[in-house]
Amino acid sequence: MRGKTFLLLFTALILVSGLSYAGWRYLQAPDHNCTACLRPVHRNTVTKALVNGKHKQYCCPACALSDHQQTHATVQVTSLTEFTTGITLHPETAFIVRGSDRTSCTHHQAPIGPDKQPVHAHFDRCSPSLLAFSSREKAVAFAREHGGKVMPFADTAAFFQ
Ligand SMILES: [Zn+2]
Repeated sequence: MRGKTFLLLFTALILVSGLSYAGWRYLQAPDHNCTACLRPVHRNTVTKALVNGKHKQYCCPACALSDHQQTHATVQVTSLTEFTTGITLHPETAFIVRGSDRTSCTHHQAPIGPDKQPVHAHFDRCSPSLLAFSSREKAVAFAREHGGKVMPFADTAAFFQ
């Protein structure tokens, strides 16, 4: 009888820890992967767009805009996310910092070349990085610290047309 109770408790404990771990993993995981580059989508760079009439989610504005260049699809960005606060922004009022030292899309190590030095990628659809801000002032303040060029989102999008 005692052995049975112990076994029951032990099984319950294993079940509870397993479920908690699964829950923790679920919370840690990004919402989705990027439609285009399959990298995890970070909460502070989520970019949503209508692509040939379908809703798609991208890891960053650069990735969304590259999609038009590569596939010639009609990409209409419908929302951006402020890099520093994670709030959703309307593209028409957002400002972009282009080419700063911050990007959320490079979390893989650069491959090592025959000379044992990291190989630099010649093309990465997410670079130079485009980070969105709710106001020109915030974008300028960020660029002062991290470099990059500040411009309205509409001007950035025109670059990729
Ligand atoms: Zn992407």
